[in-house]
Amino acid sequence: MASRVIPVDPFDLVIFGGTGDLARRKILPSLYRRYRDGQMPEDARVIGCARAELDDRSYRELVRAALEEFVAKRKRDPEMIDRFLQKISYIRLDATGTVGWKELAKSVRKGVIRAFYFSVGPGLFAALAQHLHQYKITDAEARIVVEKPFGHDLKSARELNSVLAQSFDERHIYRIDHYLGKETVQNLMAVRFGNILFEPLWNAQYVDHIQITVAETVGVAGRGGYYDKAGAMRDMVQNHMMQLLCLIAMEPPSVFDSDAVRDEKLKVIRALDPVAPEDLVRGQYRREGDIPSYQEDVGNPDSTTESFVAMEVHVSNWRWTGTPFYLRTGKRLRARESEIAIMFKDPPHSIFGRQEARSGNVLVIRLQPNEGMVLNVTIKEPGPGGMRLIEVPLDMSFAEALGEEGADIPDAYERLIMDVIRGNQTLFMRGDEVEAAWAWTDPIINGWEERGDLPLPYDPFSSGPEDALMLMHRKGRRWREISDDL
Ligand code: NAD
Repeated sequence: MASRVIPVDPFDLVIFGGTGDLARRKILPSLYRRYRDGQMPEDARVIGCARAELDDRSYRELVRAALEEFVAKRKRDPEMIDRFLQKISYIRLDATGTVGWKELAKSVRKGVIRAFYFSVGPGLFAALAQHLHQYKITDAEARIVVEKPFGHDLKSARELNSVLAQSFDERHIYRIDHYLGKETVQNLMAVRFGNILFEPLWNAQYVDHIQITVAETVGVAGRGGYYDKAGAMRDMVQNHMMQLLCLIAMEPPSVFDSDAVRDEKLKVIRALDPVAPEDLVRGQYRREGDIPSYQEDVGNPDSTTESFVAMEVHVSNWRWTGTPFYLRTGKRLRARESEIAIMFKDPPHSIFGRQEARSGNVLVIRLQPNEGMVLNVTIKEPGPGGMRLIEVPLDMSFAEALGEEGADIPDAYERLIMDVIRGNQTLFMRGDEVEAAWAWTDPIINGWEERGDLPLPYDPFSSGPEDALMLMHRKGRRWREISDDL
């Protein structure tokens, strides 16, 4: 099954923060892979900008080293890499000063798409936006790309949005949430809206509850400075998990276009109930043996920041009233796993005598690892011995369904950067969505701060604090195991 790669139009992509971690780890490797697959055209240009004293040659060496480190060996073709590097140049530039701006103004070409990736801390966004205008570097169709964190709370998110709005129209601002670029997340929409099978059941009448889990085995060492100010709620729930919840809960948009999709997501966020304290569990991993505690990892022995959060969330509208969404995310958990599980209700009556009327119908959408979907169905256990029922998975994992190509799923950034060039905002967050998400998150955080709630300790490589299990047990439900397997 050969995939069709349609090259995008010629572009100049300027990466502010071109020497930084994100540029080296994600942006540049993604561009290379798109070039290798024929999607980035020959006359595209990439201009790295940062404060370091580099020239084109030394910057290209930095990019080459990044590709060595972050592109899989089988995708590294030396000749391709050389050709790719020829499209890359460097300008030493200070976001807040005057150095480099005139040179940048001269370097960007007329008649091609201009995109500006703000791969720097949000504190520099205002200066970048203002200089881009002052030096007339942007044109009417220029796109800017910004990364999370989009603020720390509603107030700072509004400030950030208004800084960007002073220089750019909303239709030119691409706020990246890389979860939306994941193939399975897009597939969730294809499965929901491209089949007749699921949508009639996709409501409180047939769905018992929904579980969204984003579990990591890593701790926060190395990112402690940022993480300790954020915590799981700000780092994961307000953005990534909220986006996943929206895609599951939203009404079918009339068309698959950016405003139609984002309007529907916004309605979901606005329909979220406040979360009651008893529906919320915060946790922090403790030391066990050689594994340092969260507080040791962040170097703050008094930290009360959560490295784990679990909650029961309600979407108050006709479709979902009565069907809770359970969200759970944390560091240093049992396995690295991100998945959404749609837990369908049991049949109303069992015709099989004493056996419970259990449907076992679960649709699991796995984001990582092993991207794919599984639908559990109940069948008769083969062989003699009467009518015994068992649950078996109908596997829709990409690797198997699509052969080699399925296993070769592009990185989320590849898709998203190409969408920026194509001018397609569907998979990017709109300013009002971000603000609505903070408007829901702020009272939860303020609530526990006012109450002085402390996070509950949990063992490294466990499933989080016991109380998180109770969140489900008290309603006769249970979490799916956190595991690597689909
Ligand atoms: P980094 O500290 O590794 O890199 C920052 C870059 O900005 C460097 O190239 C530096 O030279 C440049 N820079 C700093 N001050 C400058 C100035 N005054 N003028 C010009 N350039 C300047 O940071 P990063 O990890 O690459 O993150 C960049 C942004 O992306 C941050 O907002 C971060 O929160 C966000 N982000 C990063 C990741 C990631 O995986 N690294 C993931 C999600 C979001």
